[in-house]
Amino acid sequence: MMNIPDSSNPRVVIIGGGFAGVSLARKLKNKNFQVVLLDKHNYHNFQPLMYQVATGGLESGSIAYPIRKIIKEHKEAFFRMALVEQIDTKNKKVITDIGTIYYDYLVIATGSTNNYFGNKEIEKNSMVMKTIPEALNIRSLILENFELALQTNDAAERKALMNFVIVGAGPTGVELAGALAEMKKAVLPKDYPDLDVSMMEINLVQGSQNVLDAMTNKSSKAAEKYLKALGVKIHLKTIVTGYDGNTVSTKDGLSFKTQAVIWSAGVKGAPTEGIAETLDRANRIRVNDYNQVEGFEDIFALGDVAAMYGEKYQYGHPMMAQPAIQQGQLLAENLERLVKKQSLKKFVYNDKGSMATIGRNKAVVDLPKLHFNGVFAWFVWMFVHLFSLIGFKNKTLVFWSWVYNYFVFDRESRVIIRPFRKNRDLEQQMNQ
Ligand SMILES: Cc1cc2nc3c(=O)[nH]c(=O)nc-3n(C[C@H](O)[C@H](O)[C@H](O)COP(=O)(O)OP(=O)(O)OC[C@H]3O[C@@H](n4cnc5c(N)ncnc54)[C@H](O)[C@@H]3O)c2cc1C
Repeated sequence: MMNIPDSSNPRVVIIGGGFAGVSLARKLKNKNFQVVLLDKHNYHNFQPLMYQVATGGLESGSIAYPIRKIIKEHKEAFFRMALVEQIDTKNKKVITDIGTIYYDYLVIATGSTNNYFGNKEIEKNSMVMKTIPEALNIRSLILENFELALQTNDAAERKALMNFVIVGAGPTGVELAGALAEMKKAVLPKDYPDLDVSMMEINLVQGSQNVLDAMTNKSSKAAEKYLKALGVKIHLKTIVTGYDGNTVSTKDGLSFKTQAVIWSAGVKGAPTEGIAETLDRANRIRVNDYNQVEGFEDIFALGDVAAMYGEKYQYGHPMMAQPAIQQGQLLAENLERLVKKQSLKKFVYNDKGSMATIGRNKAVVDLPKLHFNGVFAWFVWMFVHLFSLIGFKNKTLVFWSWVYNYFVFDRESRVIIRPFRKNRDLEQQMNQ
């Protein structure tokens, strides 16, 4: 049903066209393999800039890139838009919503998903930002809440509509809070002159004692200072226990009346069905030093979904783009070695550092041996993100949007293209 011809070359089926899957597929270009790349979306997306889509700074198209275009010049490479439902390791088959395909080698690069730690109420009522449709939902919700705030005569309701609660102060939470604070300062007062935008609140709630916990203390403190200067209210050591759609409750009795909660407090692996015995407590697939799934010679897992335990990375590598890219690159080499019956090369993570931006002119950067923040860090952040984007068109689009937004103090994409309805079941169907 998938219409993929037989080949004399071994077939590598890659599930997921994210950072890991694409980096592997690119490296397998014109090697002696038939490559079949499967993804439920027909585009590769660049999550690090997703918060700018959610806050109207970038159009969604500028962070998405057609997967077909990435492999269009590869010999014997096929893309199929398919949702993988299960893998059948006994018969070496992948079962999808468009049919079943046999593999010689299977690579699972399905990434991660939101972790609500079992709290169904939060899952039902809060917003998340793992996919572009979800980022667009957040954008719609922000704008719809402002439209509603303008219409109501009830002061308490208006306050709740203008109260944004972000749970989790990792890079996503921090960058989103900074962008919302900038909207409050420079954009929303112009759009809603008849609304008292100063009433808007941005509450950033964090369970541990620092924002950007995974970064150095220096960067955490700098980010906290920047956020406070922008008017973001930070609540550290505060554990959110529920959100019923109207009120956020916390372990130590705080509560926030709000119509917008964004959950960025946890991720877990998003493996395919059929490999349950290899999962760890974060739902990631246990792999050896060659990204081979425990107990299999012909199945590999890469990126967020893979847990390669080691001395330095006790529970696997950080769920970030670089480990995914580097693992994909090495696996291409190792697959060739495997076919030639040569010994495989161990994966060694080359940590290039991490960074986050907190609005205009402000960012924090941790390089392996250097930590800095401020305007220079912001330029480094922009440069790195611009050059990491795939495609000349996307780079140009993002560059011009940034130049425009910087000089005009604007966020052009303030449009409600697809209204967000607070009905999770419906939304989930649309997001699949
Ligand atoms: C909002 C946000 C901001 C981020 N910012 C940064 C950052 O600044 N720096 C950084 O290094 N990292 C950042 N990350 C993390 C980074 O995006 C991930 O670590 C990275 O994407 C992992 O790559 P991956 O290839 O493992 O998974 P992904 O890139 O998530 O790719 C997984 C792919 O698999 C597909 N897929 C999943 N399940 C199925 C299925 N059953 N059938 C078919 N297809 C399937 C998905 O559609 C997707 O295309 C951010 C993440 C988010 C959500």
